[in-house]
Amino acid sequence: MAGTQQPEVNIGLVGHVDHGKTTLVQALSGSWTDQHSEEMKRGISIRLGYADATFRRCPDVDEPECYTVEQECPDGSESEPLRTVSFVDAPGHETLMATMLSGASLMDGAVLVISASEPVPQPQTEEHLMALDIIGIDNIVIAQNKVDLVSTDQARQNYEEIQEFVEGTVAEDAPVVPVSAGQEVNLDLLIDAIEREIPTPDRDPDADARMHVARSFDINKPGTTAENLSGGVLGGSLVAGELEVGDEIEIKPGREVEEGGQTEYVPIETTIRSLQAGGETADTVTPGGLLGVGTGLDPSLTKGDALAGRIAGPPGSLPPTWQSFTMDVDLLDRIVGSTEDATAAADGGDGTIDEISTGEPLMMTVGTATTVGAVTSAREGECEVSLKRPVAAEPGAKIAINRRIGARWRLIGLGTLQG
Ligand code: GDP
Ligand code: MG
Repeated sequence: MAGTQQPEVNIGLVGHVDHGKTTLVQALSGSWTDQHSEEMKRGISIRLGYADATFRRCPDVDEPECYTVEQECPDGSESEPLRTVSFVDAPGHETLMATMLSGASLMDGAVLVISASEPVPQPQTEEHLMALDIIGIDNIVIAQNKVDLVSTDQARQNYEEIQEFVEGTVAEDAPVVPVSAGQEVNLDLLIDAIEREIPTPDRDPDADARMHVARSFDINKPGTTAENLSGGVLGGSLVAGELEVGDEIEIKPGREVEEGGQTEYVPIETTIRSLQAGGETADTVTPGGLLGVGTGLDPSLTKGDALAGRIAGPPGSLPPTWQSFTMDVDLLDRIVGSTEDATAAADGGDGTIDEISTGEPLMMTVGTATTVGAVTSAREGECEVSLKRPVAAEPGAKIAINRRIGARWRLIGLGTLQG
């Protein structure tokens, strides 16, 4: 059966709204993905937009036509599975850079979708490429989509614009594959490019398990009796090691407790009761794709994404929790992806970025955690922030720094957590 393989690599789908990311994911994940969608998985997928696809190869067909997502080959023979990948499709309506960046921390590579029918770059094309650059994702394939809507000359012209746009960026050497997601044209070429450019990373099976918790749920229907209650469920992605049913895990920063007017976060420990990967239950899971972890936790602790942004792993193995930290700051040259007048008028008035100042609020993304903090001290090249909600992170962790400009948070720079 297709789909029984666990996804082994996460590939982000990024690019401007309406350029065809979701259509492309649908075309690549084939018609069978929904067969496995159990309630839990579906719940996680919708918000984060994960979809698994098994790339296959027709044994008696030449490259690149041999690459497919269909089980049956054009010659009637059965295709062989190559590997299962998990696409992380950024929600289209989401303009908040943070969502894109928290997804990016889980991406092993990315497909940048650029429509052939619009001038290059559109605002989020530029913004998302910048994010890939910042997070350091350099395994990139560019899908020049909607080629069915343009003439050959226009497609060529658009191709030139893409090449010019990516020059000097992390996507400089990325292959540009003309496709039509809507008409399912050149998907074989795209799969070929992804197979070459976005390999499954080497993983150390002996490393401590490290899970980024992106969502958390109470999966019980209202009115479920106590003895039938399922424990809290965590959804997210494993970035290192393995998890097994029966393993003890710790979750940091854990839950908020109040003592003598002081709030504090205490790590949570629990046991893994069930695992789900690639839409199927499993005894062990390895990195790649979306993971559902059934725990022994009181579901009220996991309800409504209460544990989103946490990390989980073997007790004692997790990085420290920070209520405030100092970070090195690298500001961008200018605000990217700005279309609104409010943005253009902000800061230097020309899209340049003012230094961070003491007292200003910042929104920061660390791993899958997004937190707001106030700058308690700012010097050139570094600043200290006090967080509303703490984060658990390793010194050296990369931090996306956002400032409120006009109506929205805009990416202004990259921070590095000091030890
Ligand atoms: P997203 O916002 O990037 O996820 O874009 P969608 O996948 O939702 O696509 C936006 C619109 O473009 C939809 O109406 C799609 O049907 C259409 N679309 C996507 N890919 C193609 C394509 O290759 N050709 C044409 N003609 N339309 C497409
Ligand atoms: Mg979409």
